[in-house]
Order: sequence, then structure tokens, then C-alpha cells
Amino acid sequence: MRFSTKSIHAGQEPDPLSGAVMTPVYLTSTYVQEELGKNKGYEYSRVSNPTRDALEKNIAALESGKHGLAFGSGMAAIDAVFRLLKPGDHVLVSHNVYGGTYRIGKMVLEEYGLQFDFVDTTKLQLVKQAIRKNTKMIFVETPTNPTMEITDLTVIARLAKKHKLISACDNTFATPYLQRPLEYGFDLVVHSLTKYLNGHSDMLGGMVVTSNTAITERLRFLQKAVGGILSPFDAWLCLRGTKTLAVRMERHGESAMEVAEWLSKQKRIKQVYYPGLPQHPQHSLAKRQMKNFGGMISFDLGSLAAAKKFLKRVRLCALAESLGGVETLISHPATMTHASIPYEQRQRIGVTDGLVRISVGLEDVEDIISDLSSSLRVR
Ligand SMILES: *Cc1c(COP(=O)(O)O)cnc(C)c1O
Repeated sequence: MRFSTKSIHAGQEPDPLSGAVMTPVYLTSTYVQEELGKNKGYEYSRVSNPTRDALEKNIAALESGKHGLAFGSGMAAIDAVFRLLKPGDHVLVSHNVYGGTYRIGKMVLEEYGLQFDFVDTTKLQLVKQAIRKNTKMIFVETPTNPTMEITDLTVIARLAKKHKLISACDNTFATPYLQRPLEYGFDLVVHSLTKYLNGHSDMLGGMVVTSNTAITERLRFLQKAVGGILSPFDAWLCLRGTKTLAVRMERHGESAMEVAEWLSKQKRIKQVYYPGLPQHPQHSLAKRQMKNFGGMISFDLGSLAAAKKFLKRVRLCALAESLGGVETLISHPATMTHASIPYEQRQRIGVTDGLVRISVGLEDVEDIISDLSSSLRVR
């Protein structure tokens, strides 16, 4: 089966009881047992639930993995991934990751004995130098948020194998429609379902996909033992989302390309970060690794004052955190998504005070550009 067919059918057999074409929402905490030790495969919904199972199978298939494990948010999924490690273990993380990934590493898990270092994973030499004796995992995000750097998945997977590190990729920005890290040799993929996979900004969720049996067993145990699982209703909402993933990602990519080209011609914009632009430093790698360049763009207006003025003016583009929904969202990383990163480090990774990030939605692209244009014109 090809991608769109899988997105509509994988994990979604007609309901055995009624023949319902759409997977029902199994709103139940528990399941009756026929006799001691005999059930229909379900005992308690923290452990498993048919609606959650359907979503886990669906996204596992989309990522070319064997197993999916759904969590109550992207952060709960990332937390579970780091809990594969033990106190004293060291993790290498892409330096421009999602702010919450930085926060959970530095401000939560380091207190429990894990060690985190943030490196520029676009440069193999720097990654090699950062590997220590106790390094056990490399966690990359590509494209990175918000400066859209591209990490070479083949190269990192190979390096991880050589040093026996667990390789993990946060594939939230690209989605499996654009790139499938497991096919490049990664051990696991993690997602915030909240973004493109659900696509309608009406739920939160997270997912880990892997084909590795030991990792799956540990994560299943963590779902049960920790309990940060996805609710059946949110699983059902996300199943609606994944059915249209391919058409949505096509349109997100097409519109973002147009917006990025328009932005790059505006004099008041100092820099545009979009892997689809030929001037992007890893444009050719992005072209090789991704099906299109996605719906996320960042651009630099030069100063906090200019960014503030611009963001006050936008009408159609909603000033909000998050991304990947049908509606265009615009945000200011330095004070919003990346506020938990110290100022010095923000400067180093290019999250300047004038940087604005846009998640290009599915509105008519002319209307998006017109909103940006009128907001930019005002001094
Ligand atoms: C949003 C996001 C997360 C966190 O996901 P939540 O569902 O908000 O917990 C992790 N990684 C990336 C790249 C994200 O965009």
C-alpha cells in the first residue's frame, strides 16, 4: 500500500461489532472479563484501548515502523523516550530543538541524573567530537525549530550505529509524508500529534514509532507504569487528521514555497529561513531527504520593535504558539516557544529578537500574502 491508502486504511478495519467504517471512540475505562485470565485482549484503558490501538497502528504504518505508542502530548512521548536511559547516561540533542525538549532535558531530567548536550547536528564533525563514553542517545530534529536547519538523517543514523547509540528523530515538522527517519536507519521517531498529524488544532498528543522490540517493550511498560497515555477521543480526532495528511502536506508545502519566495523579495526582511529556497544552506540535502519543504518558515525583521509592530498588525495570521493546523499561525520564538532558553544561547542558535515564525495554513495563499504585505508596509 502507498502512503495515502495507508493513511486511510492502516489500523482501521471496519468495526467487528457493527461494521462501522470509521473506528468508534471506545470511551471505556475497563473491559468485562469472561472468566479469570480470559479477555478479548483488553483489560484496562491505561494499558490499551481499541481507538488508541487504531491510531498507533495507523501512524506506525505511515512511518514505516512496526509499533506505535501514543502519549497524552508530544512532551509525554519525549519524556518516555528519555526514560529509556539510566542516571549517568548522556544524550546529544540538536541545538535548535523545540524549546520544550530543551526544558525537559535541562530543567527536569538532569535533576534525575541524565546529562544533555546540545550540538549542531548539521555538522558531523561537531557531533563526533561531542560523543562521550557515557553517550547513549542522539536526538535530532529536522527541520529544526525555528531556523529550519536540516540534519542529514543517513549520516546521523550511521554514526549512531557505529557508536551503539539509540538514534531518535523528532519528525513533527516534516511528518512521515515528507520524510521517514526509520527508512534512513533511525531507531525511533517521536511526534507531537498536536501539529500536522492531527492538523486541526483541536487536540494534544504524542507518538513514538519504532521497529525495535526492546524499545517497544520498555515504552509499553512506561505507558502502563507512568500513565501519560492518549485519550480515546483525542486518538479518534487524530485518526480523522491523518486521513488527509498527504493532501494537506502537499498544499502546506506549495503555499509555504510561495510565501517564502514573496518574503525573500521584501526589503524590510533581513533573512528568510526556508529549506525550499535555493539560498538555504542545506537546500540540496532537503531536496534529497524530503518530499517537499513543509509549511514552516521563519524570517527576521531585524529588531524586537519591528517584530512587535508587525505581529500587532496581522489579521488573518493568528498570533499563537503551535503549528501544523489548517489555519495560518504566526509566532515570536524569542518570547514564546523559545523563552525558556537563556538569552545567550538563543543568540547563538539564531533565535534573535526580530525573528518571526509562520505556520502556513490552508487558506488561499493570496490572502495570506496580502495580510503579511499590509502588516509589513506600516512603520
Ligand atoms: C509541539 C512540539 C513538541 C511538543 O509537543 P506537545 O504536543 O505540545 O507536547 C515537540 N516537538 C516539536 C518539534 C513540537 O513542535
